Amino acid sequence: MGDIIDIAIVGGGPAGLTAAIYGARARVKTVVFETGLPGGQIVSASWVENYPGFPDGISGQDLADLMYQQAENAGAEFRTISPVEAIRPEGNDYVLSVGGEEIKARVVVLATGAIPKKLGIPGESDFAGRGVSWCATCDGPLYRDKVVAVVGGGDSATQEAVYLAKIAREVHLIHRRNELRATECLQEQCLFHPQIVLHLSHIAEEILGDGGKLTGLKLRSKTDGSETVLALDGVFEFVGIDAQSGLVADLCELDELGFVKVDPNGLTSRAGLYAAGDVSNYKLKQVVTACARGAFAVYDAVHYLETMVAGTA
Ligand SMILES: Cc1cc2nc3c(=O)[nH]c(=O)nc-3n(C[C@H](O)[C@H](O)[C@H](O)COP(=O)(O)OP(=O)(O)OC[C@H]3O[C@@H](n4cnc5c(N)ncnc54)[C@H](O)[C@@H]3O)c2cc1C
Repeated sequence: MGDIIDIAIVGGGPAGLTAAIYGARARVKTVVFETGLPGGQIVSASWVENYPGFPDGISGQDLADLMYQQAENAGAEFRTISPVEAIRPEGNDYVLSVGGEEIKARVVVLATGAIPKKLGIPGESDFAGRGVSWCATCDGPLYRDKVVAVVGGGDSATQEAVYLAKIAREVHLIHRRNELRATECLQEQCLFHPQIVLHLSHIAEEILGDGGKLTGLKLRSKTDGSETVLALDGVFEFVGIDAQSGLVADLCELDELGFVKVDPNGLTSRAGLYAAGDVSNYKLKQVVTACARGAFAVYDAVHYLETMVAGTA
């Protein structure tokens, strides 16, 4: 085992990158473990309009790149080859298993975020990545002048429907409730968009295909039980997120949905173990809140490290 890390941040999305900026600036040894390229879910956001400082908005990828650059400039280290496979306590410290190596840290900030939920309907797995997508920025350009559906009614679904409407000929927006639950201004953009067709109170029941090609989506009306088949080229799903909290499931308390319970400082039910961003249990899951939670967690963690050194933790 090499030198002990002061703050090991697991996950390099907005929460982890902000935690890294705060850790490095506090001059404690701060290492971010990220399984892919830093940026997290925001990389799949076509356009971010609600992050302060960018009055005209910014692409999710550009925002992620800027945060990464800022964390590196501040002096945070990055290990981006393998996922963290396990975390175990050892005395007051933690040991992370990463790519066959054991790495010791005084504090862990879990910022593993969340992954998009799947609908779990017939046909979905057959056409995953071949017509069914969870990322409009990545796959949207494949649907120029085609017809696609977006399933979901929240901020991500409405925002990505508007983005897809710039590329596709027609976008069907399907939501199981009788009204969208997105922020008002996003709802307005969808409701009055000439290329977006809204299907409220409808459930996506089956993804249809012909051989290797997705051909449509079967919908069921919640109002009268009737069936509709939409002829489509692609289906984009934005129906919520699942917390990536498995690494700490046996170490600290989770809520009933699997999100890590934290106090206002980001501390879990275990000393030295923090959680920030989408993996933790607060309601507004956005870039700005993930960043804020990353900052809170590291602010408290640095104080905890100081009390450990002073022998008062
Ligand atoms: C399509 C879409 C559009 C969105 N649009 C907006 C928007 O316009 N405005 C807004 O504010 N928010 C938006 N969001 C939400 C926003 O992206 C999230 O709230 C935010 O990214 C959460 O940040 P996070 O750091 O908590 O987690 P994430 O962004 O999920 O990052 C977690 C990171 O942890 C890494 N990781 C996971 N497990 C491990 C492991 N075991 N080892 C190492 N690394 C690991 C992952 O690879 C990932 O990079 C959007 C989300 C989506 C999907």
